[in-house]
Amino acid sequence: MSTPDKPQYRAWFESIRDPNERYPLDEIVYTDQSGGLLQVAHDLDELKKTSGEDWKERFKQRSHGNEWPYGSGVWGFKEWVLPQLDNDNVVSMYEGHTNLFWADRYGRQLGVPDLWLKLCGNSHTGSFKDLGMTVLVSMVKEMLAKGRDIPAVACASTGDTSAALSAYAAAAGIPAIVFLPRGKISVAQLIQPVANGAIVFALDTDFDGCMEIVKQVSQQDGVYLANSMNSLRVEGQKTVALEIMRQFEWEVPDWLVIPGGNLGNVSALGKGLDMLLEMGLIRRKPRICVAQAEAANPLYLAYKRDFEVFEPIAARKTLASAIQIGNPVSFEKAVAALRNYDGVVEQASEAELVEASAEADRTGLFNCPHTGVALAALKKLIRRGLVQSDDRVVVISTAHGLKFVDFKVDYHRMQLEGIVPENPNPPIELPADYDTVRSQMLREIDRRFGR
Ligand SMILES: *Cc1c(COP(=O)(O)O)cnc(C)c1O
Repeated sequence: MSTPDKPQYRAWFESIRDPNERYPLDEIVYTDQSGGLLQVAHDLDELKKTSGEDWKERFKQRSHGNEWPYGSGVWGFKEWVLPQLDNDNVVSMYEGHTNLFWADRYGRQLGVPDLWLKLCGNSHTGSFKDLGMTVLVSMVKEMLAKGRDIPAVACASTGDTSAALSAYAAAAGIPAIVFLPRGKISVAQLIQPVANGAIVFALDTDFDGCMEIVKQVSQQDGVYLANSMNSLRVEGQKTVALEIMRQFEWEVPDWLVIPGGNLGNVSALGKGLDMLLEMGLIRRKPRICVAQAEAANPLYLAYKRDFEVFEPIAARKTLASAIQIGNPVSFEKAVAALRNYDGVVEQASEAELVEASAEADRTGLFNCPHTGVALAALKKLIRRGLVQSDDRVVVISTAHGLKFVDFKVDYHRMQLEGIVPENPNPPIELPADYDTVRSQMLREIDRRFGR
């Protein structure tokens, strides 16, 4: 009697330009021979030995369970992410499983009642960066277990990437190094890596200067590079597509709207969708909109020229600081995703992103400025008739609003430079006197709710 062979799932690094150029995942390699990007590729024939329906059942059963590590929102899809990784080397804080919020009140205001927000910021370090970092740091732990000499993991960042790297490295007991531009970041951005015990360097330069240093220490000193040119991160982030579809019982929405800076996240979204289609878990394609801040819009400018030319720009200052990037690393992958999903690119000015964010806050959300960019872009798509009233729309909210309170404080204090807020709501300061409070209270209820 023969037993069916145990499946031998495999994944490897592959050049996006030449599928024949391959490397094992435990090799320290960030780009192909021509300097182009790598991606993680999978043996799909092997995965297809399990039917789409069986994969759905398996993913559903694991969801929120406690069997290590499958209860994690990323590792519940382990065979589709890093199938060969030893479970003992997984570094996870049960990331993912972020809620998909039906924003029905805001949706009705905009004229798209079937509006949902995927709240990726409701996560361990407060942004979607956790989804990619759990995968990258797990791979580092496995390489160390196999005896590789890696003194530390490192990234250049001013915000969410350094927070996620520091937390996962701390959980694994691996040294993390973070390069930040001195004096150019807020207390909130600095405190996460500091608290998690990362080696934090504040350098007399800007973000690009930090990037140069991190590249040198990775090339010359064997420090493992955790910036998003490392495609292990994209592999973890692609689970956002898998999770959204599972949350909708594999019913495909019409639109996915996502803010983009370095463009790793939209590449990941596209990659997740590609795999769902290829494996037969979904049968229809959603459309994708990438939303950029007008101050940092190189993808938008390229889109306007049908992607025939790409010119890096010098990104100007924007409140959406995590997407203030003029030369996005994952440009090529993002263009492929946009072409494959009938994509569009929109942009939002500072005033537009601030107002959209505040407006949605008034319906119970608490948006980061990047989500504000996505919401402002959505409003434009609705106005242009591209998004229609019966469409199901999912906005990817990339970080928790509590990580970015400064712009809200300034908005409600009416102190945002160059912006006149439409709906400020500063606290009302009064003496502690019942009659004064009562008359003001009744006036405010009437003013706001028109009773
Ligand atoms: C990193 C980040 C982005 C941009 O993602 P990319 O992959 O660089 O396009 C958007 N929003 C937040 C909050 C982020 O941390």
